[in-house]
Amino acid sequence: MHADIVVLPGDGIGPEVTAAAVDVLQAVARRYSHRFTLHEHLIGGAAIDATGTPLPDATLAAARDADAVLLGAVGGPKWSDPNAAVRPEQGLLAIRKALGLYANLRPTRPHSAAIGASPIKPHLLAGVDLLVVRELTGGIYFGERTRTETSASDLCSYTVAEIERVVRRACLLARGRRGHVTSVDKANVLETSRLWRDVATRIARDEFPDITLEHQLVDSMAMHLLSKPRAFDVIVTENMFGDILTDEASMLAGSLGLLPSASLGDGSVGMYEPIHGSAPDIAGQGIANPYGTILSAALLLRYSLGLSMEAGCIEQAVDSALEDGVFSADLAAGGDARSTREVTAAVLERIETTC
Ligand code: ATP
Ligand code: MG
Repeated sequence: MHADIVVLPGDGIGPEVTAAAVDVLQAVARRYSHRFTLHEHLIGGAAIDATGTPLPDATLAAARDADAVLLGAVGGPKWSDPNAAVRPEQGLLAIRKALGLYANLRPTRPHSAAIGASPIKPHLLAGVDLLVVRELTGGIYFGERTRTETSASDLCSYTVAEIERVVRRACLLARGRRGHVTSVDKANVLETSRLWRDVATRIARDEFPDITLEHQLVDSMAMHLLSKPRAFDVIVTENMFGDILTDEASMLAGSLGLLPSASLGDGSVGMYEPIHGSAPDIAGQGIANPYGTILSAALLLRYSLGLSMEAGCIEQAVDSALEDGVFSADLAAGGDARSTREVTAAVLERIETTC
């Protein structure tokens, strides 16, 4: 097949890790006789420096026309003045909104070879395979804000339609997995959570009789995620709860650098990025862990291009490299650490030979 993929390297280690993922995508294209045309554009601080805005019109236009978007990371100390008129992160929020990306997917599957890097006890981690689906466009992060001398408020609101679409997406994803969805809310206190629970219950009952739905309160979920992570399959939750729980879940896998994400809407364009940030402390040194971005490229193939076999090939190649101890510095714990390019080369070699 032919696909147009927009690549947004962004800032810090973004260009280093997207270069790795691009090499992997090209290797998959060769291996399976596809043609991926890659279009590189500016976003974040790099875009501010070049054009004065974190999301140039040309970038958004290209993203709208593309089949999928692969993003590195945005931000860094150079642009971090809180009083600055434009900030790199605005580019990210703006592109997510413009593309209508309302579901953020973060799969977490601790790899046996990397389990030692996790602060959680190994016996709790074996066999963990979960997918958090975080609502991305509503809730308290987008509500009206007020501030006076003596008080402040943030409004949390959700519509039925916003809840329906993300719960439906979670249930569909569960169908391709173990058929279990945990909906997380705070329905004992919050009205938005009571609405969330009602809608989730109705969608699962009326449209997904094959799916088992359970409800958890966010506070006990925070505990269960660490004490019995194997009990979960798909977890669906609102924006802020998802923000917090996904960072917590990332610790199950050992390193931020390993984890991919996908942001999906109802349109066909999805955006794929590692969950880590721009890591300014190690930028430019060639030591960043590229696995998270390489695995994001696998999600791109699976969710935007429908190429499951090719996605599986990348995931197998990554598993095999980790199995063989191909560790970047964040995973090596003082042992033998490979550079970004060496890790990438190990994955490329396995794509040629193992799939
Ligand atoms: P953001 O606000 O953009 O999410 P952050 O403040 O959460 O950023 P990161 O940029 O993700 O921070 O970095 C957190 C720490 O993890 C840093 O010490 C960084 O060097 C390390 N880190 C992040 N990503 C990687 C990676 N791919 N490889 C190696 N180390 C990484
Ligand atoms: Mg962060």
